Amino acid sequence: MSNLNELSITDAAKKLQTGEITAVDLARACLEEIEKERPAGKCDRLNAFLEVFDDVIAQAEEADKRRTAGENHPLLGIPLAIKDNILIEGRRASAASKMLENYVATYDATVIKKLKEAGAVFLGRTNMDEFALGSSTENSAFGVTKNPHDESRVPGGSSGGSAAAVAAHMALGALGTDTGGSIREPASFCGVVGLKPTYGAVSRFGLIAMGSSLDQAGPLTRSVEDAELLFTVIRGRDTLDSTTVDETFYKKRSGGRRIGVPRRLLESGLETDVIQKFEKSLDVMRSKGYEIIDVELPLADLALAVYYIIMQAEVSSNLARFDGVRYGLSLKGESLIDDYAKTRGEGFGHEARRRIMLGTYVLSSGYYDAYFGKATVAREALRREVAGVLEQVEVIATPTTTSPATKLGEKTDNPLSMYLLDILTVTANLTGNPAISLPMGTVERDGTQLPVGLQFTAAHGDENALFAAGRAVE
Ligand code: GLN
Repeated sequence: MSNLNELSITDAAKKLQTGEITAVDLARACLEEIEKERPAGKCDRLNAFLEVFDDVIAQAEEADKRRTAGENHPLLGIPLAIKDNILIEGRRASAASKMLENYVATYDATVIKKLKEAGAVFLGRTNMDEFALGSSTENSAFGVTKNPHDESRVPGGSSGGSAAAVAAHMALGALGTDTGGSIREPASFCGVVGLKPTYGAVSRFGLIAMGSSLDQAGPLTRSVEDAELLFTVIRGRDTLDSTTVDETFYKKRSGGRRIGVPRRLLESGLETDVIQKFEKSLDVMRSKGYEIIDVELPLADLALAVYYIIMQAEVSSNLARFDGVRYGLSLKGESLIDDYAKTRGEGFGHEARRRIMLGTYVLSSGYYDAYFGKATVAREALRREVAGVLEQVEVIATPTTTSPATKLGEKTDNPLSMYLLDILTVTANLTGNPAISLPMGTVERDGTQLPVGLQFTAAHGDENALFAAGRAVE
């Protein structure tokens, strides 16, 4: 019974249901993969995990007991990895920050509660950019995660640990969070499927907030079917998050087969072979009966600028709670102000401090109208523009990223070039639309084949269109 860790969730579920394997077998297979060639002091060879829980086998035994007692959920006994900004009661949740290094969650996030009810097994918590601020996982306070396809490259971020763990078969699936692309971009760089649900589809209760009007938790998996399964379990209205909506909120759509391609957006610095792969995927879609039409999204050019104003503003206010009094790290200075300065100065890394300063600036009374106010207006215009296009087509298709995974350190000295990596992903967060990234083959860099992702965006609440298109191209 080798390589159980390489099964898809749906295949593993079938084997569990027939009794061919047990949850303990699956958990063991994942743990063995995690421990393979692990350097001293690290949980795994890629630094994908910040912690592997010490009770994984006990959790799996419990799942097997529940099955013997008659339970039969498809996630019962499925081992998953959880991004380190999602709270699990009694476990650490550090958001890969020194600020929360020793913070132990006192309650479950709603998504965790739902997964526990379904019987999933939690393997551990995965590495990420500190507070989800980044596109490469290099902003983690606990070291970078390596890309399983080429260890000299980044896994993408900020959910880089989750994506690497799934791609390297250390977990059958994972949860990440996506504020501007943090599920889809590492999915693209690591060659897995990543879904950013409709804003409000999945409860944010118990996530360590980055940008509250942008954040969504979602699955990272090795197949579209698995992403759909996890999404179905974690979604739903939650009285603990007033921004959540229920199934009936959005009008049902026809299920047509038109795909819109914003050609002009593809001129924004995409590498030639990435575009070639994209065209090939469109050919596949055509052969499956989809109609491909050109669409215009002129405002999408502005999305990055708008995102980097609104997100920073929300980050600065969300991170204000880490003051050394209420949560996490607490350092004593000469005065209360000095306590704050010391705690925040040492607790936050560079990128967090940069964003707090920029966010505070765009919200300051003198500059609010010039930056935050304008960005809010532009965001609404963008939302209308995308909604208009999605009246004509079921999904909009683009590559997920402009390039395959970049080299470790390649962009760390130039934050702006790092931010540019998000050019194709931030729109869906600003507009609240659901978007998925799935593998569309590989391109060669320095003699190594590296995965690149295809992104589909659909109307609010129309995740089904994403899954249908995804399955057609998979
Ligand atoms: N890379 C983007 C940023 O740095 C998105 C991060 C995210 O989605 N959490 O803000």
